[in-house]
Amino acid sequence: MKNGIEIFFQNLGDADSIFVRTWKNDIPTNILIDGGYRKDADQVSTFVGERLLETGSDQIDHLVCSHCHDDHAGGLVELVNERHFRIGQAWVRDLRGDRSVLSLSRVSQLSMSQAKLVLEKLERSEKTRIELLEGLEKYYPDTIISEPFYGEEIGPLIVLGPTYEFFQQQYSKFDDRAFVTQLEARYQKRNQLAASSSTEKPLGDYVSPENEVSTILAYPFNEDGNEKVYMLTADAGREGLNDVIYRYGSALKNVRWLQVPHHGSRRNLDEQIIAKLAPETCFISCAGNIKHPSVKLVNKLKHYGTVYSTHYCVDSNSWLRQSAGKVFNLSITPATPLYEK
Ligand SMILES: [Zn+2]
Repeated sequence: MKNGIEIFFQNLGDADSIFVRTWKNDIPTNILIDGGYRKDADQVSTFVGERLLETGSDQIDHLVCSHCHDDHAGGLVELVNERHFRIGQAWVRDLRGDRSVLSLSRVSQLSMSQAKLVLEKLERSEKTRIELLEGLEKYYPDTIISEPFYGEEIGPLIVLGPTYEFFQQQYSKFDDRAFVTQLEARYQKRNQLAASSSTEKPLGDYVSPENEVSTILAYPFNEDGNEKVYMLTADAGREGLNDVIYRYGSALKNVRWLQVPHHGSRRNLDEQIIAKLAPETCFISCAGNIKHPSVKLVNKLKHYGTVYSTHYCVDSNSWLRQSAGKVFNLSITPATPLYEK
């Protein structure tokens, strides 16, 4: 009888699409978390089709949007519009109407602060969010749309964060002129310079509020009599992760498997968080460029366990897989751990 979890990490460069298949007494639950960029939609769709076929299903039981940045939500918009699969339940934060993050006053504030790039990025995310929600409502009228906030359960996955309060607190940073100026300067610098080496910079730095509110998920699993946790983090930063660690405390001490947040950026984890989580196995979805993954971060994680990255996959159509428990025996090639010095 199958009981356990399989996590598939697609190789899309600095973008996420993760397929999770859990088993309980031989019954599978199929979960898709993010869909990469819009351009990745065909690859994601083919991949999901293959995974569903393995269990004779045509339904994604849970479709999860971790946050609305292009590299996570873009492909989901395409996938929803293509309508290849049935969708049981969709998980997207609905920030339309009076919950919109782009109130008239905020937009005019950001314009006045000359925060052009910050505003553009926010507007793009919100456009993606609306397209995704409207696509779901139009093509999947029977699909329940829920919001992935703390306390919810996405099938067998637990939403650790963000809380609604944390979410609001993060977005209120866009009303802080000093913060917005700092973020705008960073975006400008990123646009001007070719990526410079980040090896000398320390781990841990601020990240955008939109990344901080990424959905953080956990799958608790009993392995050899020990309660272990599998943890998915999308692009969450230190504030989001510390909020979760604060609320869950010792329940997160046995992290068997961790998705390294934000494509292995040096900004999203620091020594304290790594020491608290002490993950046995880490997966990174990244392009393998000068910033992603951060060599310093990888070396730090290697003190605790083994680190794998999608950029070590043999080709763009391949993927990484982690499994636990009694699940499908897919005869696949073992992945090579990262060896950067
Ligand atoms: Zn991302």
